[in-house]
Order: sequence, then C-alpha cells, then structure tokens
Amino acid sequence: MSDEANPFESLQEQIDDAAASLDLEPDVVNRLKHPERVLETNLSVEMDDGTVEVFEAFRSQFNGDRGPYKGGIRYHSNVSRDEVKALSGWMVYKCAIVDIPYGGGKGGIVIDPADYSESELERITRSFAKELRPLIGEDRDIPAPDVNTGQREMNWIKDTYETLENTTAPGVITGKALDSGGSEGRVEATGRSTMLTAREAFDYLDEEIEDATVAVQGYGNAGWIAARLIDNLGADVVAVSDSSGGIYKEGGFDPKAVKDAKNESGSVTSYDDYDEELTNEELLTLDVDLLVPAALENAIDGDLARDVKADVVVEAANGPLTPEADDALTERDVHVFPDILANAGGVTVSYFEWVQNRQRFYWTEERVNEELERIIVDAFENMVDAYETNDLANFRTAAYVVAIERVAKAYQQGGNWP
Ligand code: GLU
Repeated sequence: MSDEANPFESLQEQIDDAAASLDLEPDVVNRLKHPERVLETNLSVEMDDGTVEVFEAFRSQFNGDRGPYKGGIRYHSNVSRDEVKALSGWMVYKCAIVDIPYGGGKGGIVIDPADYSESELERITRSFAKELRPLIGEDRDIPAPDVNTGQREMNWIKDTYETLENTTAPGVITGKALDSGGSEGRVEATGRSTMLTAREAFDYLDEEIEDATVAVQGYGNAGWIAARLIDNLGADVVAVSDSSGGIYKEGGFDPKAVKDAKNESGSVTSYDDYDEELTNEELLTLDVDLLVPAALENAIDGDLARDVKADVVVEAANGPLTPEADDALTERDVHVFPDILANAGGVTVSYFEWVQNRQRFYWTEERVNEELERIIVDAFENMVDAYETNDLANFRTAAYVVAIERVAKAYQQGGNWP
C-alpha cells in the first residue's frame, strides 16, 4: 500500500473534479469538502491482566443534509483522523448516488484486533459505544460494520446504547445479527453490489462477463462474496489475495473452497490447488478482464496504475486508487467503476435493516435482494446518463456529479442557519 496519498485530500480532489462540471457557488462546494464535526476520544480500557490500555478513537459526521449520518466503524492500526474524515465523506456521496435518505459518517479505533481477546474487544467496543452515545441514535447517526468489525461488535454497541438509554432502539446501528434485529442479505450486500456493478458495466461496454477473467485483491467479506457472485455469472476468478499474498490458477478457483481454506488457516495462500503464488502488486497488474480491489485505500498508486492490464476495474474497497492512479487509468482508457456505487450495497441493505427496525416488520432475503438490485441498477443508469450528457472524463466524476448535485440541493433547500 502506498502511504503517499492522504485519503482526505483524495476525497477533496474528487469533489473538485466533479464540481468543475456543476454550476455551484464556491461556498457550497467548500461546505461539501469538510466534515461538520469530528469526535476524537481516548478509551481507557482494562485488559485481561488488570492493566489499563488507552485507545485512540474517532467518529466523523461529515454531512447530514440528506438525513442521519451513516457509516461504519473500523478497527485497524492505520486508522487516523484524516482517514476517518475521508471515509465519512465517501459515505455522504455513496448514500446520495444510490439515493437513500442518509448523510455520511465514519468511525474507527486505532487497534489491531488480532492482538486482543474477545473479552478485551468487548470492553473496548462498549467503551467506544459509551463515548458515542450522545452523538448516535436512530435519527441522528447510525454506525455499521467496516474493516475488522461485524455482527458481534454491532450487537455489543446496540446493547450498550439500549442499556444506557433504557429503551429498545435496534435502528441505532445496522449490520446486526439476525436475532438482534439484523436484515437478511446484509452480510452479502457489499459483494452483491460489486457483482451487480460489474454485470452492468460489462453490459454497458458490450463485453461478455460470462467469458471474463477476474482478479480479486482482498478476501474479506466484500472480496470473497464478490468473487463468489461474479463466479456465479460464469466468469473465471483466476487470482485472489489477502494481506499475506495471492494465488493464481488458470481456469479459475472455486471461491468457496478458497474461503474455507482462509477460514481454517487465516490466509488464501494456504489453499493448495493453484498454479502460482503472487504478490499483491503482481495480482493488481495481471492481464485480466476485470480487476476488483477489495482491500484498503491506496492499493493502486500512480506508478502501479501504469502497469495495470485489466480493462475494467470495479472498486469493492473504499478509495483503493490514489488520484494519480485514477488519472493514469483514465488516460489509458481503463474503465473504473467507483467505490461509491460498487460497494454501496452494504449501506443500502443497512438502510433496509433500519427501515425494518423502525417498522418492526422483517423482509425476506428475496425482497432485500430485489430492492437492492433495483437501487444499484437505477444508480448505475443515473451515473451513465451524467457521464454521457456532460461528456465526463470517467465514471467516478459522473457518480460524484449526480451525488453532489443531490446533496447541494438538500443543503440549498434547507438554507443556511444561523
Ligand atoms: N462500512 C460500509 C461502507 O463503507 C457500510 C456502511 C453502512 O452500512 O452504514 O459502505
């Protein structure tokens, strides 16, 4: 991973690129480039051995013009104030491109969760939930899972909030387990929108996804589900990787078998039926039809982008390309379908979860997947319309043009007060 690009600066550049095609006052654009507020807190938590450790944690509420702040909480040693600010901004435009009634937020704790026991992680999570309590709520700010967090952490946060508030409020957080008020289809949703975006992209470009070769960087929840669902379309997933490295197999892997191997040993590299081992860089520059970066920010920088041989990139991760990489790929006519659309399935099914929580009425998985498909296909069409109508450089700028216009309208209709 390149550590040159500051993700918050990348976000601001993406907004400027799109704003250049929009007729907006500079003060409105300026508002859209900065978070409304950021909580920075230090959690003092007792460890299993009785010592007390301090953890830095953040929650950025970027923009609430279209609804409650919405976005995940990640546990990672690279979490920083600027990273959380960037991720919260991406959430604003992600919710706007798929047109769900939310603003954007994001949180994180600077921690490598692999170094802590389950009971330590529970105390750390509940301590963060206590700090978040005055800021969050079903109509205020609704956290969700992100890198290294999942149903377990969401259930703890919901329980802490409900206990402190002396109420039941399952819609305060999404990505919960089914028995704690979660939704069918939520775990798969990010990978599903990645698959739907890839399917629509190939269709738009008049290419056959059934014959495509695919490389997937990152084999967490987003990457592996995307691999499985894209494989189901008939494509061949020929390369996969995680932070330990990658593997290549001509003719393609069975994504589930690779996932089972990773579950057992911690890495895809323990799967034994492959032709070649690969580094992450080698995977990202493979000659494939479709590349799916599904790990962290800045996976592809300007230098690496010049060696990317895929024809189509669909971003399952948030911010996997630096702005230099984006420019290099645009110049070389590699079509990039942006994160704010391709991974928006997660927050879209979070929205369905929240609607179900508010109504206390639960949907079938079939209904969830149908509604998700409709939303992603509509958003794809809106993006392509903006791309063609405004003759834009790439699909990312097109997605931002649609999204920024929606956020700016909500802001301008509400007016500035005080
Ligand atoms: N963390 C996910 C994302 O980056 C999901 C957010 C949510 O469901 O609120 O989109």
